[in-house]
Amino acid sequence: MKSELFNLAGKTALVTGGNRGIGLAVAKGLAEHGADVAIIARTKEQLETAARQIQTDTGKKVSTYPFDLSDIKGIEALFENIAAEAKGVDILVNCAGTTIRGPSEDVDLETWNHVIEVNLTATFVISQAFCRHRRQAEKAGRIINIGSLTCHGGRPTTAAYASSKGGLLSLTRTLAVEWAKYDINVNAIGPGYIATELTEPLWTNDEFNKWVLAKTPLGRWGKPEDLAGTAVMLASKAGDFITGQIINVDGGWLALL
Ligand code: NDP
Repeated sequence: MKSELFNLAGKTALVTGGNRGIGLAVAKGLAEHGADVAIIARTKEQLETAARQIQTDTGKKVSTYPFDLSDIKGIEALFENIAAEAKGVDILVNCAGTTIRGPSEDVDLETWNHVIEVNLTATFVISQAFCRHRRQAEKAGRIINIGSLTCHGGRPTTAAYASSKGGLLSLTRTLAVEWAKYDINVNAIGPGYIATELTEPLWTNDEFNKWVLAKTPLGRWGKPEDLAGTAVMLASKAGDFITGQIINVDGGWLALL
């Protein structure tokens, strides 16, 4: 008998930042388990390449939406358009994220606001639109936010990023307890250090690379695909009774004293 625990057939997942890195791996993982997917990011060509790749590998429908999530006022209309075209969105993965590193005493307000807007405010606003949509449809929903090790601790030169991710964990818990009555489960995944475009300045730096390997009990950088299974679990029947949690997929980082 085939298990239904991880089956996403008949569901549609919207993944922000789904054109590369962690978002692409998560979108592909959800499609491999039967979901149609819609992906949002700014870079149109990368969206199209990602869509072709997911479609070829999984046979599922993939729709692309080029959009800059720092355009906070445009998010509601974007979401409504996606929900109408997809005939409903069951799963929302908030993965789009950015960082600008620099000494905190020198960070200008424009930089601070941009990182907070993309990582935290856009997540809140699209989650609001998703919640209203699920309530109107009288259907359950799943939100998965991509957190970070900075949900749990500080790192020099990352004030805006770490603040956005700390806020994201608080938002995850708040929405989980508030929207449980609507059958919307809200969780976060906390990646360790994953080799992507975002972390290229880090994994190409010998000293930083050594530090990451020493701090990661499993002894390697994570791959975007390492996050996919947890996302599938949180999106599927397997995650029915999980809400308000952060699941760290970090190679053991946070367990090490
Ligand atoms: P990437 O740089 O590869 O991906 C970032 C994604 O966000 C891209 O799809 C990018 O698309 C999208 N994005 C960035 N800014 C915007 C914007 N203004 N509007 C719309 N989309 C935007 O990095 P990762 O895959 O590593 O990061 C994905 C998430 O995982 C982020 O939230 C990050 O904070 C988190 N994370 C990553 C870790 C790591 O070690 N890599 C560790 C912990 C958390 P585009 O540029 O085309 O708009």
